[in-house]
Amino acid sequence: MKKLLFITSLLIISFGCKLDSLKTDNPEKRQEKVNDFAIIIHGGAGTILKKNMSDEKEAAYKAKLTEAIKTGHSILKNGGTSQEAVLKTIQVMEESPLFNAGKGAVFTHEETNELDASFMDGKTLNAGAVAGVKNVKSPIELAIKIMTDSDHVMLSGEGASTFAKEKGLEIVAPNYFYTEKRFQSLQRIKNRNKTELDHDDKKAAFYDADIKNAKFGTVGCVALDKNGNIAAGTSTGGMTNKRWGRIGDAPIIGSGTYANNKTCGVSSTGWGEYFIRSQVAYDISAQMEYQQKSLKNATKDVIQNKLTKLGGTGGVVALDKNGNMAFEFNTAGMYRASMNDAGELILKIYKE
Ligand code: ASP
Repeated sequence: MKKLLFITSLLIISFGCKLDSLKTDNPEKRQEKVNDFAIIIHGGAGTILKKNMSDEKEAAYKAKLTEAIKTGHSILKNGGTSQEAVLKTIQVMEESPLFNAGKGAVFTHEETNELDASFMDGKTLNAGAVAGVKNVKSPIELAIKIMTDSDHVMLSGEGASTFAKEKGLEIVAPNYFYTEKRFQSLQRIKNRNKTELDHDDKKAAFYDADIKNAKFGTVGCVALDKNGNIAAGTSTGGMTNKRWGRIGDAPIIGSGTYANNKTCGVSSTGWGEYFIRSQVAYDISAQMEYQQKSLKNATKDVIQNKLTKLGGTGGVVALDKNGNMAFEFNTAGMYRASMNDAGELILKIYKE
């Protein structure tokens, strides 16, 4: 009888443990490598609705996102580094007027373009960032150069441009960044009768030409290479009508960008002020490191719970050391894509 009781209680305990591990995001399962290499990108989050999108515009976004991610994927497939993949992928988007980064950067209140970018290497935890440059064609390249060729992590404005020139990076005339669409967005926001808006709307109106159709447009990429190294990068023109040298989250390590081979890599897009206050990218990594959360649960908590409670809008793309990938956002849409080691492409714009 005693023996029977003993066996029954053993069975109950082991069944309980099994149930527990099923419902608590099974830690053993998280140790499995799901991809030898992988890449994930975003082209900004916001009120991106199918009903406001023409077929041509949608096709143009999809084509550019595909071109960008395939560029990085082929680098990784051929044994290239995650750093190279992130650089080249982001440069494809920086050179397109479709995204609020590089060529398509939004306008400041003073009708200039001030660009921000950052990069982090998950192996060394080294990082580079640039804020408020006006004449550097590829801010992501400059961020990487700051990491590799200077003793600093972050440079800004004139000094950053001087450094870029000294390092032989491509300098462009400020009108390289002029696009009619972005210029008109600035005019709309400036002409807006702000007295009709309530307090929160006023804050939003400061940043975007049309709150109901607000979208960001920053670009970002996270990659895992065959050597297990994670890299993450983000590049942006910031937010329309920004002034007084405003700097968002994109060049802030731990907020717009973070990478650590022990956990994950993250690139953010959204209302920068909230992303800075939430330390979005680092918080995801920290939850994985200190709470043993999966990538999925960590990104969900940071975006859907913490950021949302604070009133922030936007999203992230993230990838962990085992090649798991996650898109998470609390807006109507986010331009996004991922590719695994088998070459399978996921490409989405709207929330499904
Ligand atoms: N996060 C960027 C900023 O606040 C904007 C964006 O994601 O589009 O500058």
